[in-house]
Amino acid sequence: MIPVGFDYARPDSLDGALALLAEHGEDATVLAGGHSLLPVMKLRLAAPELVIDIGKLAELQYVRLDGDEIAIGAGTRHRTLEASEELAAECPLLPAVARTVGDPQVRHRGTLGGSLAHADPASDLPAAVLALGGTVVLRSPRGERQVPITGFYTGVFSSVKEPDELIVEIRVPRTGGVGWAYEKFTRRANDWAIVGVAVVDGRVGLVNMGSTPLRASATEAALADGASIEEAAVLADQRTEPPNDLAATADYRRHLARVLTRRALSTAAGV
Ligand SMILES: Cc1cc2nc3c(=O)[nH]c(=O)nc-3n(C[C@H](O)[C@H](O)[C@H](O)COP(=O)(O)OP(=O)(O)OC[C@H]3O[C@@H](n4cnc5c(N)ncnc54)[C@H](O)[C@@H]3O)c2cc1C
Repeated sequence: MIPVGFDYARPDSLDGALALLAEHGEDATVLAGGHSLLPVMKLRLAAPELVIDIGKLAELQYVRLDGDEIAIGAGTRHRTLEASEELAAECPLLPAVARTVGDPQVRHRGTLGGSLAHADPASDLPAAVLALGGTVVLRSPRGERQVPITGFYTGVFSSVKEPDELIVEIRVPRTGGVGWAYEKFTRRANDWAIVGVAVVDGRVGLVNMGSTPLRASATEAALADGASIEEAAVLADQRTEPPNDLAATADYRRHLARVLTRRALSTAAGV
């Protein structure tokens, strides 16, 4: 399908992008890697009057160690996450999850900020940032605010991000040698997850188990109370509302969530 006609702007600075977004509000959309936006525009589910291309802004592309945290520019590509030596040493869950996204073409274009902003409950990286207890940094001409990822998502494809705000940075803790794991269940290589489970430091992020990326809160609470891995993992589908679709029934997803959580917790614990 061919998208509805639109104007295109490629500002040469972040301030320029923010100014355009403030001027055009809900009539404008930003383009980062375009691997979620363009399919949506081609299906005519989105028809912005102005597309603001931020995909080449070097200001948004970095991975920096910053005290106890790692600051990652929103425009950082999945491939950069995969190859980052800083992340491999200080936050290995993130490159491992990035490596499971789509295929090399997708990973060379898609960005972490785009993946979080798109708010698809089937995406891998939001679940990883949830398991890490990360923070989303939003900026508009009105200023900057930091939103814990646990409070970022509000529903299917929606978040607390205002129309004039850009995600500029994602902050995650340095986890160093703490155990971690990512279990992604697909029918074919390169597919989206039917269910995915990210685990680090007793936190569990779930992919495709509800209308938003979410944490397995019952499992986390049980672990904190001293439950065994088996006892905690059987609670992984509590407080979730997995979809029924062509890939799997909700019941099958519940089963997968419990099994994958047990495997991920075992791997993270080294048992
Ligand atoms: C064939 C294919 C397979 C894929 N497989 C997977 C998979 O297995 N797992 C997975 O997780 N993902 C998968 N994806 C999605 C991929 O990871 C996307 O790249 C990602 O979801 C969106 O990132 P993007 O940079 O391309 O964003 P874009 O498509 O450019 O933008 C997506 C949305 O986010 C907004 N946006 C982008 N950046 C910002 C920002 N900095 N601030 C505010 N809003 C912003 C845009 O306005 C738009 O609404 C796949 C995509 C394709 C095409």
